[in-house]
Amino acid sequence: MGKVLIIGAGGVATVAAHKVAQNPTVFTDIMIASRTKAKCDKLAADVEKATGYKGIKTARVDADHVDELVELFNSYRPDIVVNLALPYQDLTIMEACLQTGCNYLDTANYEPKDEAHFEYSWQWAYRERFEKAGLTAILGCGFDPGVTSIYTAYAAKHHFREIHYLDIVDCNAGDHHKAFATNFNPEINIREITQKGLYWENGKWVETEPLEIHKDLTYPEIGPRDSYLLHHEEIESLVINYPTIKRARFWMTFGQQYLKHLEVIQNIGMSRIDEIEYEAPLADGTGTAKVKIVPLQFLKAVLPNPQDLGENYEGQTSIGCRIRGIGKDGKEHTYYVYNNCSHRAAYEETGMQGVSYTTGVPAMIGAMMFLTGKWVNPGVHNVEEFDPDPFMEQLNKQGLPWKELHDIDLEL
Ligand code: NDP
Repeated sequence: MGKVLIIGAGGVATVAAHKVAQNPTVFTDIMIASRTKAKCDKLAADVEKATGYKGIKTARVDADHVDELVELFNSYRPDIVVNLALPYQDLTIMEACLQTGCNYLDTANYEPKDEAHFEYSWQWAYRERFEKAGLTAILGCGFDPGVTSIYTAYAAKHHFREIHYLDIVDCNAGDHHKAFATNFNPEINIREITQKGLYWENGKWVETEPLEIHKDLTYPEIGPRDSYLLHHEEIESLVINYPTIKRARFWMTFGQQYLKHLEVIQNIGMSRIDEIEYEAPLADGTGTAKVKIVPLQFLKAVLPNPQDLGENYEGQTSIGCRIRGIGKDGKEHTYYVYNNCSHRAAYEETGMQGVSYTTGVPAMIGAMMFLTGKWVNPGVHNVEEFDPDPFMEQLNKQGLPWKELHDIDLEL
């Protein structure tokens, strides 16, 4: 039905590439393009071996440069570009899509490199241009953002007349047997977690100190885990699209060992995102040179690569939405919709751990929704603006089945 171009060859892109190749009647042609072509070649070979798909194309592109992207898009002519590089590249890729007439999908909202701050305004500013060009841009189509927003849309469509309280709860109860590692790109992950917390209450944003608010929440098949209130991007669009929401928050679990390492990283300045000058010895031993280093980028280079965590990863993730509001019958109800994903099962299928899996599968389904004509709407849209039903149906078929609990104690 259509040609897909995946940008990026990291953990999430690896899962998405396996999943698009598992659906050859929808994705009739696949290209993987990233900064390091050798990684794309290896990924294409692995996917072909695992799925039997033939003829995956690869290319090198630096997605920081619109002209390089435009040249690639013009030569390959994809129907949809799936951006699984880093949030820094969102705007350049959207710009290139506009210049070449391609549709767009991503899993994380734009973030400038020199400021640890994310919000949708930069991407929403493209709405009119995508609309006029007749192109669809689908924003935030991973798990959170992504499935959590679609869960909310599904709850609003089928169970609630008015959603009043929304708590998105994200638990990783897995163990990768490393002293410290992040589950997706360490630079993006540490920037996110060290920010101030933010939640929506009674029509305004409430700011907290980083990881200031936490409480034990009980996750299905896992049990109680200390969960911390974080700022997370999907809250920004959900409170606009569901104006009956009185309070919306996002919670994520962290173990004490992880938090201790994070504290040390911050205290010793390794989470800094500004450049520092460093006098480095030359590799040939002939002297020294002054180089500029961003400490957090250097830290990324020495931390375990999230892509290598899968082999010994045990346990599972559990991510869902806990909702309270007025049901279709006019009475107050609670509702919990969630998915549990096994790290081991994800690794056996795609070679990646559960966090990459829970992001890459929805990215593929979003592209499938577009190519099958179910999510076509010129403009720039967050995922909850589309019909959740066909997406929810595919989650059950593509490896991320969901469960519902009604009228339970939400603990929140
Ligand atoms: P990785 O670091 O594993 O992979 C990133 C990939 O992007 C690498 O292949 C990298 O290439 C490539 N890349 C980086 N810069 C450029 C560039 N300028 N041009 C072309 N390619 C580039 O990250 P993940 O796979 O863990 O994460 C991918 C995305 O998914 C991130 O945006 C992350 O925020 C998002 N995410 C979303 C989640 C959700 O639920 N919504 C959850 C988890 C992640 P190279 O190898 O050469 O550096």
